[in-house]
Formats: sequence, structure tokens, C-alpha cells
Amino acid sequence: MLLDKTHPDYDGERAGFQLLDPYEPDLIVPAGTPHDVRLAVARAADAGLPVAVQATGHGLPRTTPGGLLITTGRMNGVTVDPATATARIEAGTRWEQVIEAAARHRLAPLSGSSPAVGAVSYTLGGGIGLLARRHGYAADQVRAIDVVTADARSRHVTPESDPDLYWALAGGRGSFGVVTALEIGLVPVERLFGGGLYFDTGLVADALRTWADWTAALPEEMTSSIAIIPFPDRPQVPAPFRGRRVAHIRIAYAGEPEEGATLVRPLRAIGPRLVDTVAEMPYTASDTIHNDPTHPAGYFATHSLLRELPPASLDVLLGADDSVVELRHLGGALSKPQSHPNSVGNRDALYFAGLLTPGLAPGTDTRPLRLAHDQVRRALTPWATGGRVLNFLYGENATPEEVRRAYEPADLERLITLKAQWDPTHLFRAQPA
Ligand SMILES: Cc1cc2nc3c(=O)[nH]c(=O)nc-3n(C[C@H](O)[C@H](O)[C@H](O)COP(=O)(O)OP(=O)(O)OC[C@H]3O[C@@H](n4cnc5c(N)ncnc54)[C@H](O)[C@@H]3O)c2cc1C
Repeated sequence: MLLDKTHPDYDGERAGFQLLDPYEPDLIVPAGTPHDVRLAVARAADAGLPVAVQATGHGLPRTTPGGLLITTGRMNGVTVDPATATARIEAGTRWEQVIEAAARHRLAPLSGSSPAVGAVSYTLGGGIGLLARRHGYAADQVRAIDVVTADARSRHVTPESDPDLYWALAGGRGSFGVVTALEIGLVPVERLFGGGLYFDTGLVADALRTWADWTAALPEEMTSSIAIIPFPDRPQVPAPFRGRRVAHIRIAYAGEPEEGATLVRPLRAIGPRLVDTVAEMPYTASDTIHNDPTHPAGYFATHSLLRELPPASLDVLLGADDSVVELRHLGGALSKPQSHPNSVGNRDALYFAGLLTPGLAPGTDTRPLRLAHDQVRRALTPWATGGRVLNFLYGENATPEEVRRAYEPADLERLITLKAQWDPTHLFRAQPA
């Protein structure tokens, strides 16, 4: 099937989670099989149309009108092999499907804060998950990649069969082809100790400072983050948070619950919690740790990577009171060498510092937001590594310069060389080259 702009299903098919600036392709191919993807890539190559791919639309890049969009939502099969602790996931699979399928075998994928995010793109972009400090990037667990390259051929790529293409795809996301399926490793996690601690406005600064100090000496089993959220005063916001600036500490401990409770004690000592959900839970309930929004929305987000979090950096973040501020604790297994190298960069960063402006209507001019976010990021420069995380570069923020910062300089050169080899006509105009 091929949808042009006059087709009644065109708008429904291009709709994704991010509402701000949807694709406006000339043509959409709703793909159901790798064969559909091959035909679509061949057609685009013949017509000289650039190719974009959308699974769920959580990570919409910068969009320019025109081209051919391949939607992969119908390709969503998951099979788990408990003997090898691996899953085969098709291009349009969301994490929630993988979590459910893996849990039947007491296994878990390295999924992130939102189970609605597309598992394939998340993994190809690195993937900083709930258990990231214990198990590393999701990309580090990629065993095999089925991809349709710019010559419209399907290839089964493993670290052994084609180390260069494997290295480029695992970290390079959509730049080298349309991935039709991934084989990923799962981890033996059935339950974890986790949840959220919510502190009211008067304790936000304390919560941030205590969390930052607390992260200085933690085992790798503990992955955590903090968000400072200015909740609007609207009826649809839950009563304890409505109209308040709240600190939300998120905990995911992959160890014994008693040890987890001991580790979390200094955080509970910050003061009374508006809500405290930290307890032992099945991995299938891990969506409640971050409680990410589930309804499509318009949002603008930027970030920095930091090597340290001294008090002056926290003052900068506390001053950013118009945005949602998020700090994720990195390090641990994220910084370790992988058994099969990939192109994910910036492994030396210790904190992710994100700024998010939610609730934007479609077509909102994001330039004023960019200026406001940039002012905060400039103030963080003394502690910043200068790096970026590909997965968190959305929309207007995904400029070529920002995307280049997701890689080590030598890796970027290698990616550009491989891009010229595998996609000489620049059919896939996604990042990084
Ligand atoms: C609420 C929310 C929570 C998030 N939480 C996390 C988190 O905890 N950790 C983390 O690391 N990231 C997180 N992200 C970022 C997310 O992982 C990326 O934005 C990811 O790219 C989204 O993938 P998608 O398929 O859902 O989105 P899409 O917008 O459909 O895809 C994003 C891009 O990926 C590429 N792509 C998609 N499918 C393919 C394919 N089959 N082959 C090749 N390229 C493809 C395309 O370039 C596409 O533009 C989060 C994002 C949101 C909005």
C-alpha cells in the first residue's frame, strides 16, 4: 500500500507520540513485512526520494516536508528464546511487548522509562534504561541486526559477519538502513526494588542536593534519577501535585529489597513524601518508576552531559523553573568496554541533565524555548562534557551539530566513511552524517 497526501489514511498513518511537528512526506508506506520495506527503499531510490522511518513517533527528528516515510507499527512480533536469553523483536515493537514476553521466562530487556517507546530505535540509539548502571546500554546487548540497506537488499548483520556495519548500526540508529528486526540479549531480572519518592515544593532543593550527594558512592545495582516538575494547576493533574513544583526521585535497584531499602534511607530522611511508591515490584510494573506520560503530546527538549554535579550546578538547575528538569545518574556499566564494540559515544559522562518543555500545541515556534534552554545549558558549561545522547535529540534540537556531539571524534570520522560506503546517495537522511 502507498498513501499520498490525498489518501484518507494519510494523517492517521503519519501520527505519532510527538505532536509538535509531524512528518509531511510525499508518500507513506505502511510496512507489514521486510519485503514491503525492500520495495519501499527501492522505490525511493529510483525516484530520488529521501527515506524516513517511524515506529511510534517518540523520537521525531527534524522534519522537512517531502520524501517517503516507512511506518513500521505493524511489524511488531516478539519471540523469546529462554535457552539463550535472547529476544527477536521486529521494527515496530514497543518495549511493553518485550517486557511481557520476557517476563514469562523470568527475564527482562534493558528497557527505559517509558514502555511505549519503540524498542528497536531506542536500542539503536544507545538506550539508557532503568538498570543502566548495572547492565549498560541496550545497544551493548545487540546480537544481530536485520536491515534493509540503501541498495534495497536485506542483510543479517552480526559482530562476526560484518563488524563495521554492526558497529555503525548499533549507535548510528537510522543512518545506515531500515532495521526490520533485532536480536537482543535479556537479563535475568524478574523483580526489582524501585518506585518514586515525591517531595513537595519546600523540599525540592533539599531533595536535589541530597540526591546529588547520595549518588557519589552507590553500587552499580542502583540506577536512579530525579525530575523537578512544575505541575500545572489543572483538574487532570493528580491532587497532590496540582499547581506545585515537585521533586520526583526514581529508584531502580537490581538487588535484594532489604539492601535497596537501606540504600534509600537517606532519601526518605529528606522529609515527608507526597507519595512514596518505592517497594519490591515485578519488572512488568517498572513503568510506574518514572510514570512517563502515555498520551501523545507536543514537547521540546534539550540536554547536556555532565562529569560532576557540584552545588553551583544544582543552583543553575533549580533556577530553571519554567521547565521540567531531569538528572539521570550514569556511570557504572555504561562506562565499561563492551564485548562487541558499537558506536555509542560519551561513555565517560556521569550525569544526564535534561530540560523539557511539555504541553506545546502543534506548530509552536520553539525558537524562544531554544534560547531559554540554551541559557541554562551555557550556565552548566563548567561541568559539561560537551557530549549528547542521540536518543534524547528530538525535533528542532536534533541539528547536525548536536547529533555529531553524540559520538567520539574518531568514531564520527569512521561513521562518515561508512555512510559514504553504505549510503552514497544519502537516501537515509537521518543522523549522523
Ligand atoms: C516519554 C519518553 C521516554 C523516553 N525514555 C527513554 C529512556 O529511558 N532511555 C532512552 O535511551 N531513551 C528514551 N527516550 C528516547 C527514545 O528512546 C528515542 O526517542 C527513540 O528514538 C524513540 O524511538 P521510537 O521508535 O519510539 O520513535 P520514532 O520517532 O518512531 O523513531 C525515532 C527515530 O528512530 C529511527 N528509527 C525508527 N525505527 C527505525 C528502524 N526500524 N530502522 C532504522 N531507524 C529507525 C528514525 O530515525 C526515527 O526518526 C524516551 C523518549 C520519550 C518521548
